Amino acid sequence: MGDEEMYDIVIIGAGIAGLTASIYARRAGKKVLIVEASSYGGQIINSPNIENFPSYDNVSGIDLMRKTYRQAERLGVEFVFNKVLKVEKKETTFLIVTDDGDFEANAVILASGTQNRRIGLEHESEFMSRGVSYCATCDGALYKDKVVAVYGGGYTAVSGACYLADICQHVYLIHRRNKLRAVGMPVERLKDFKNVETQLSSTIVKLNGEDKLESITLATPEGEKTLPVDALFVTIGREPNVNFIEGLEKDDDGYIVAGEDCKTNIPGLFVAGDIRTKKLRQLVTAASDGAVAATEALEYLQGA
Ligand code: NAP
Repeated sequence: MGDEEMYDIVIIGAGIAGLTASIYARRAGKKVLIVEASSYGGQIINSPNIENFPSYDNVSGIDLMRKTYRQAERLGVEFVFNKVLKVEKKETTFLIVTDDGDFEANAVILASGTQNRRIGLEHESEFMSRGVSYCATCDGALYKDKVVAVYGGGYTAVSGACYLADICQHVYLIHRRNKLRAVGMPVERLKDFKNVETQLSSTIVKLNGEDKLESITLATPEGEKTLPVDALFVTIGREPNVNFIEGLEKDDDGYIVAGEDCKTNIPGLFVAGDIRTKKLRQLVTAASDGAVAATEALEYLQGA
């Protein structure tokens, strides 16, 4: 190997899982690096109201993650904001190749989360930032007093629709099934808005427009229907993105196979958070994974 800087543990991803793992590893006195492709915080930074994280009645994702990031920083966790291109298992160590330098580690924790699922329609990429968005809280303000649509029936879609209802003239909430997936508080809140129109049992089949999105065509039980909209917020879930390491066991949906001990099929490589095969993907379960993965990595290092 070359002159790569050596770490006890390199963590890929600075969301709640990666940051929690780093806090546990640093408190055990290890030299820890987090490599993150974008900004710290992970997907939760786009949630304006989190009401199910213990100790907070209500907290914004960005506030929560800023605190967690600063906690890790104060403990001496190192950060680089690079994209990981490859993770390679060498004889006893791992080589982490990024778009701006390489690093070496005795153990690696993958906590790189998931990416937005696309609908897969023609013009979807072309209209991105020109009417098509994947984040209501990031881009909603651009469509003040306009007509917008939200696609999906989960918590992200429902809380996105509530957020947009405060800003926009009219919000269509479009979901493929006859029942929303989200239940409870956000769905109750949705009922308070008179400018939200829910369109169930419908799928979006066309994105129409010249240079930007102008309307969407739905397949509904009554036939095709075109709605003029200024923006479409696609919030139909997320997908794992781990194409930078070979030989890793994944399930049919691409999630990394690991049990509650967060151990993958590659010794010394652990996985934490939403990219692990698991039933409940929440902040608390991702944080829990971070603690477990770090503890397992520490045990692995002791034996190494
Ligand atoms: P999600 O719960 O997986 O919901 C995705 C929605 O998109 C579902 O309604 C699904 O339909 C629909 N969908 C999936 N693929 C589709 C496709 N190809 N075409 C059309 N529709 C499609 O995703 P999420 O809402 O982003 O939430 C992700 C996780 O984060 C969940 O565990 C959620 O509980 C959590 N979360 C929590 C909060 C909170 O405040 N507590 C906030 C945001 C997210 P079906 O219903 O038919 O499957």
